[in-house]
Amino acid sequence: MGKFPIAERHILGVLICKKCKTRNSKAAERCRKCAYTNLRPKRAKKKEAKGK
Ligand SMILES: [Zn+2]
Repeated sequence: MGKFPIAERHILGVLICKKCKTRNSKAAERCRKCAYTNLRPKRAKKKEAKGK
């Protein structure tokens, strides 16, 4: 069964700004911080525990 943890499902509903890496809601058309329109959907493939 393909059951995902709630945390990952939450991450899937996020768009990341390619310019400033700000998280925006899935419904966002542009970055709320820098107004950049090139957002990419957040994938739950890699773990982001490390960060940088
Ligand atoms: Zn941005």
